[in-house]
Amino acid sequence: MNLILMGLPGAGKGTQAEKIKEKYNIPHISTGDMFRLAIKEGTDLGKQAKEFMDQGNLVPDEVTIGIVQERLSKADCQNGFLLDGFPRTVAQAEALEKLLMDMNTSIDYTLHVDVPVEKLMERLTGRRICPVCGTSYHVIYNPPKKEGICDKDGAKLIQREDDTAETVQNRLEVNIKQSQPLLDFYANKGYLVTLNGDQDINQVFKDIESKLEEIC
Ligand code: ADP
Ligand code: ADP
Repeated sequence: MNLILMGLPGAGKGTQAEKIKEKYNIPHISTGDMFRLAIKEGTDLGKQAKEFMDQGNLVPDEVTIGIVQERLSKADCQNGFLLDGFPRTVAQAEALEKLLMDMNTSIDYTLHVDVPVEKLMERLTGRRICPVCGTSYHVIYNPPKKEGICDKDGAKLIQREDDTAETVQNRLEVNIKQSQPLLDFYANKGYLVTLNGDQDINQVFKDIESKLEEIC
C-alpha cells in the first residue's frame, strides 16, 4: 500500500501517520522529521535545511527529492510506504511519479486531511512533541496523561522551534500557495481522497480506515 498524506501544517498528518503505521505496518516517511534529525546530528543536509526551516520556507526541491529518493530505495519500502509532508510542490510530485515508475509501482491514495485555515494557528502553537520518539501532542486537544511528559517514553515534551506564531504565519502562507496545484495534480490522476480533518482524532482515523479497506 503506497500512500501520501497531504494537508497544511497542523492538519494532523503526523498524528494520523502514527496510527496508519501501527495498523498497516508500513514505514512512515516524514521529510520534516528527516530534516529535524539531520539538524540534530549536524550533518550537511541539516546545515542546508536549517535556514529554510527556521524561516518557515520550503527546503529546495532538489535537496528534498534527493532524500526521498534515497529513502524509497531502502528494502523496507518495497511493500509499501506512507509519505508525510512530501510532495509539497508540483515539481516534487512529478519527480515522485518518475521515481515510482522506475520502481514499477504507483500511489494508491493521496489522503488529504482538510482543516479550515483559521483552526491551524491554534493547533500549531499548542503542539508539543517528544524529542525522543517524535509523538505529537496538543496542550488542549491531545494532552499527554501527565502534563509535559511523553506517555510512551517519559521524555520531557518540547515545542518545535518553527511552531512560534511568527514562523507559523509564514509557513501557512507558503504552504497554502503550493497546496491547490498539488491537490489538482492528484485529483487529475484520480488518487485524491479528501478527509474532514476538523473532527476528533479517532474519527479522522476511522474515516481513513474505511477508505483503506477498499484496497486491503
Ligand atoms: P508540519 O508538520 O508543520 O506540516 P513538517 O514537519 O512536515 O511540518 O515540515 C517542517 C519544515 O520542513 C517545513 O516548514 C519545511 O521547511 C521543511 N519541509 C518538510 N517537508 C518538505 C518538503 N516536502 N519540501 C520542502 N520543505 C519541506
Ligand atoms: P501535521 O503533521 O499535519 O503538522 P500534527 O499531527 O503534528 O500535524 O498535529 C498538529 C497539532 O494538532 C498537534 O498538536 C496535534 O496533537 C493536534 N491535532 C492533530 N489532529 C487533531 C484533531 N483532529 N483535532 C484536534 N487537534 C489535533
